[in-house]
This record gives sequence, C-alpha cells and structure tokens, in this order.
Amino acid sequence: MSAQTYHGSCHCGAVAFEVTLALDHLVTCNCSICRRQGTILGFAPAENFTLLKGAENLSDYQFASGNIHHEFCKTCGVKSFSRGVGPDGVEMRAINVRCLDGADIDSLSPQKYDGASLKG
Ligand SMILES: [Zn+2]
Repeated sequence: MSAQTYHGSCHCGAVAFEVTLALDHLVTCNCSICRRQGTILGFAPAENFTLLKGAENLSDYQFASGNIHHEFCKTCGVKSFSRGVGPDGVEMRAINVRCLDGADIDSLSPQKYDGASLKG
C-alpha cells in the first residue's frame, strides 16, 4: 500500500490536520488508554503531519511515563492523533486512522500490539 495524503479531523471539526501515510502497519493496542478509546493507530514522522487548525482547542493528556502526548479536542473529546518520540529519536505522530476522511476502516487489517505489557 502506498502512502497517501489524508485529511483528518475530530468530530466537531475544531481540530483538523493533513497527514501522509500508508494505511498498512496499523495497530490496535490493549493498553489502558487504547482499549478504552478503540483507536486504530498508524504512524507517521512529524514532517508528514500538518495541523491545519485547532492547536488552541487541543488538550494534552499524559499518563505513566508521560512519553506520549494524547491530544484530544476540548469540545468534542475525540482524540484524532497523539505526539511522541520514536525509539530512534524521531518526532512522531500516532494517527487515529478512524478520523481520516476516506479511509475505508473495514478494509484495514491492523495488527494487535501488546501495549498493556509494556506501559500498563
Ligand atoms: Zn472536536
């Protein structure tokens, strides 16, 4: 699957972004936050991500190690992406691909990731 540029947003539209990524190497995770939120995550380097609007409407939630910034919309509560630094030191965005326009969610094959064993 080749990389494509998608438009993504929270539910109310206050937060919107563009991201270029391929919808493979996706994960669902069983950690304490992912299992509650039901996110399907795809990963992109920060340079492939542009926040179009809503910086002032994001709330930054952190827990455990605090390595990941779980950004969610203050108005509608939807988490469309989070921020963090990858193992190789590269600034990354974890995209909730459920928030991408035109992504055919039912056609995706995310791999299960055992985040619960790593971060709780
Ligand atoms: Zn919103």
